[in-house]
Amino acid sequence: MEILEQLYEGKAKKVFKTSDPDLYMVRYKDDATAFNGAKKGTISEKGIVNNKMSNRLMQQLAEAGIPTHFVEQLSDRETLVKRVKIVPLEVIVRNVAAGSFAQRFGVAEGTPLKQPTLEFCYKNDALNDPMINSYQIMALELATEQELTEIAKIAFAVNAELQKIFAAVNIRLIDFKIECGRLDDGSIILADEISPDTCRLWDATTNDKLDKDRFRRDLGGEVEAYQEVARRLKL
Ligand code: UDP
Repeated sequence: MEILEQLYEGKAKKVFKTSDPDLYMVRYKDDATAFNGAKKGTISEKGIVNNKMSNRLMQQLAEAGIPTHFVEQLSDRETLVKRVKIVPLEVIVRNVAAGSFAQRFGVAEGTPLKQPTLEFCYKNDALNDPMINSYQIMALELATEQELTEIAKIAFAVNAELQKIFAAVNIRLIDFKIECGRLDDGSIILADEISPDTCRLWDATTNDKLDKDRFRRDLGGEVEAYQEVARRLKL
């Protein structure tokens, strides 16, 4: 297997072609951005934590029957994944009000929700990733009704598994974002990453934030927070 040219550089990862047309390689960076790139910085060794954590979680999700893009970790920062076409949606599941949900609906951050919520944002940096509903998604042909049904099923199944995994290490899963992709046969699988960049993770005893909100909100201690999650998960 040979690593070929870089296809794409995102905010937190680079994606490379490989000699196998069905596989890509991703390389995780330490770069951190927030507010659609308006705030920039680095979190030392974030790329290593996110790579290992995402891979571990995707393997556990796969064992629970959820299809994922994970194939093989190549190094601390590099992983082989299945080639997909990303569905241009940020799929957000919430268990507790926080961030934009708390603001939009005037609910105190930390308020538990009666049931998990699902929401979508249209992945489009030029438009600032606007919230979008399922009718708008279908009208714009971003995904079909069947695909949305499958994405919702994956999102709630991921939530159930991740809640168990984090509860076992005394962490509350407040909310998270996933992205899904299409394989050539049209099937939908979990892609992108699951990490403290994409999840809100609070210590279950103290409610200390162990995620990217430390960077977004200038709380400090972001390197230590990522390392703490890695330590608890024994990555
Ligand atoms: N999220 C993400 N990428 C984004 C926007 C949100 O990974 O571009 C994650 C975020 O880390 C949180 C969840 O999605 O776990 C819900 O985020 P929210 O809508 O509250 O937005 P934010 O407060 O991050 O702007």
